[in-house]
Amino acid sequence: MSENVIESLKYLVVKVLAGDIVTLHALKEYLVDGESPSVLSHKYKVGKFKLRGYIQRVTEKAGNYRVAQYILRTTYDSLSKLAPIVVKVSGGYYCTVCEKIITMNPERHVRLEHRDLVNRIVMECLRLAKRSKS
Ligand SMILES: [Zn+2]
Repeated sequence: MSENVIESLKYLVVKVLAGDIVTLHALKEYLVDGESPSVLSHKYKVGKFKLRGYIQRVTEKAGNYRVAQYILRTTYDSLSKLAPIVVKVSGGYYCTVCEKIITMNPERHVRLEHRDLVNRIVMECLRLAKRSKS
């Protein structure tokens, strides 16, 4: 499996675990369903520039547009079933794995502190993606 696929999938897994499921839905609807960024920006209440930034990030990590489409198409079902490990609480974020309030950016926390979990989920998504293709 190419490094690009793994990197862009990691990006998505980190976002979902950190509690940002909206970006996953928006990216899937843009890349797979062909929905326009302005419609999605309105639907999910995400700034259009922010949304374009996410699209750019995931496409860059994937290497190109087609690969990004492939990733979202084959892993969206698995990713959308993931439960976030970080939840928003008053005054910050709470990590249910560490069982403590975290002060840093939640995505950064997941990326730095829960690397093994992220890698495990990435591998599981790829395994399921491969199975559904055949
Ligand atoms: Zn944690």
